[in-house]
Amino acid sequence: MPQDQGEAQAEARVKEIGDENDRREGVPDVYTPVPAATAAEPWTALFARMRRGIAARLLIGVLLFSSAVTLLLTAGQLYLDYRYDVNLIEQRLKEVGAGYPGIIGESLWDLDRTHLQIELEGILKLPDMRAVEVRETGTVDPLVVTVGRRQTGSVLTRELPITHVIDGAPRKIGTLYVEATLTGVYQRLLDKGLIILVSQAAKTFLVSLFIIFIFHRLVTRHLAVVAAFASGYDFHRPSTALRLRRRPPAIADELDQVVTSFNELCASLQTAYGNLQKANAELERDIAIRIKNENALRETEQRYRHLFHNMPVALLEMRGNFDMYDGLRAQGISDSGAYLDQHPELFRRLVDAITIEEVNDRSVELFHARDAKELVGSAARFWSESPGTLRRALESRFRGESRFEEEMRVATLDGHVIDVLCTISRLQPISGNSPTLFGLVDITERVRAREKLQQLEADFAHAARVSMLGELTASIAHEIAQPIGAIATCAEASLRWLNRPEPEVAEVLELTRRALADTQRATAIIARIRAMAVREAPHRTLISLDEVIRESLLFLRYEIQSNDVTVSHTFNPGAPKVLADRTQIQQVIVNLAINAMQAMAHAGTVSRKIALSVAIPEPGMLRCTVEDNGPGIGLENFSGLFDRFFTTKDGGLGLGLSISRSIIEAHGGRISVDNETIHRGARFYFTLPTTNAAE
Ligand code: ADP
Repeated sequence: MPQDQGEAQAEARVKEIGDENDRREGVPDVYTPVPAATAAEPWTALFARMRRGIAARLLIGVLLFSSAVTLLLTAGQLYLDYRYDVNLIEQRLKEVGAGYPGIIGESLWDLDRTHLQIELEGILKLPDMRAVEVRETGTVDPLVVTVGRRQTGSVLTRELPITHVIDGAPRKIGTLYVEATLTGVYQRLLDKGLIILVSQAAKTFLVSLFIIFIFHRLVTRHLAVVAAFASGYDFHRPSTALRLRRRPPAIADELDQVVTSFNELCASLQTAYGNLQKANAELERDIAIRIKNENALRETEQRYRHLFHNMPVALLEMRGNFDMYDGLRAQGISDSGAYLDQHPELFRRLVDAITIEEVNDRSVELFHARDAKELVGSAARFWSESPGTLRRALESRFRGESRFEEEMRVATLDGHVIDVLCTISRLQPISGNSPTLFGLVDITERVRAREKLQQLEADFAHAARVSMLGELTASIAHEIAQPIGAIATCAEASLRWLNRPEPEVAEVLELTRRALADTQRATAIIARIRAMAVREAPHRTLISLDEVIRESLLFLRYEIQSNDVTVSHTFNPGAPKVLADRTQIQQVIVNLAINAMQAMAHAGTVSRKIALSVAIPEPGMLRCTVEDNGPGIGLENFSGLFDRFFTTKDGGLGLGLSISRSIIEAHGGRISVDNETIHRGARFYFTLPTTNAAE
């Protein structure tokens, strides 16, 4: 905005404000700006404008003060003049007293009235003399000569004795009365006072006007601009800086400081307003987000309630008090299960604190309850059939896991026991008494079916084992024939020693011992074969995988020899035991080894090798690997290798690998194959978890 235009607007604004102020009667003016007078404006207009401004107050102030000072000074001046004039009159009276009585005495002695008249008129001519009178004393009819007229008040008088030397001695013959008036003095003082006051008043007035003019030029007109700028200032919009209509002084004066401060204030205001707007916008955004979040939360809550009540799963809202967990963690306890075992009262307290707060209709159905109220309250009864699950659930909460899932058994309210899949979901972050969602799915049927399936698979595995034994008949026969042959040899030799004229009892004893050892060997072989052949329900015990490998290799000893295979078994002494069915795991290893031997024989591998090893790929797991240097697995066969009835052999059943997979998966492990072996053949490996070994 050009400066002129800015000023014009400022003036217009000033006028507006003035008009507004005029209209607002009775409202005290806080500020009435007085704009600068233009050259064309008459002085009266200027006075009119200044009437209500600082100028008027300044004028009155200056006038009052200078009038007071003028009055004081004038009074002082007049007093001094008065003193001077009175002194002068007194001096004159003194001179009259000194010079005239002698002359007047002569004329009075002579009773020369004419002379006396002349002499008295001479005195009267002196300045300020009002009346002079000579009165003879000592006679009955005294001579009295008077000139001038006496007056009352404002006079100075002297009565002087008139003496005459009679007979050599001065004698009083009369009195001389002289009266001087002060009227002249007063008149002079009045004139002088008037002149001083008038001239001082005129001077004061003119000087005051000049001061006002200067003050107006230097200050008030700029103040008006500042005021107009301030009234028109809108911090919502950016504006130009305030500038005064004057040539800037060489050194910044107070007005410049005001302008600078004002501009800084405006800038700060704008910045503050900008910040405020930003903060407002952010606040609005935050509020919008918050409203959105609240709506979303409400929706989620509704959705949750809807799901909770309508899911075809029994859902129960549980809450416990697990504050003590923080204390246990602070004490450095990491195995909460062991700690709770040692402190059963704490375990009881934890369990007693768990309550069911809400259940859905499906829960009422599942537990054969009359209504939801029957299930709400203490949760202890839900764990009566599976205390181990409760213990593990509490441990999982101690570990801060948000989810726990396990199959368990629960008793319904009418006394039945059902199998359920229990899922516990905990809200994150898990705090001392944050709620828990307890979901139960009735899997009684599924468990029955699974048990049946397991039975079938066990039967199937047994059939496969028997079939495998069939394949190994020759080896078995050889295995058994070997110790029996040795026993027979021992028996024959014993007979020979006994048939001697002098029987060699010592030799017979030794041979009998050997026969006994061979018998034990044969019995062990038969026991192993029997274990493989007999149909027994799977029974899991803690077994050493290396031990099972060793037994399997014993079982295959003849097969290995007759196939001319070099078998290496790398023991892993650090490997923990696993909870598994010994016969089934042996079946898997024997099956993998037989497959390897068959593949190598079929491919005509020259120097045949099988390597078995046990490793710990990760904590809580064991891995058994069976590698060979046969042809490996053809790429096209990888996908269906573990399928039932998949075989590439003439007369093969295609059951070995599929049954091995069922056995391993039933133990919670995995079986896999690749050709990544240093022997350049196939590499089969299966894993078994060791975490359940402690159960
Ligand atoms: P079967 O032995 O009756 O064929 P399996 O299920 O035991 O049934 O084996 C399936 C197939 O896997 C075999 O026919 C064979 O082609 C392949 N196989 C198994 N082990 C090996 C191995 N070590 N080397 C190469 N191929 C193998």
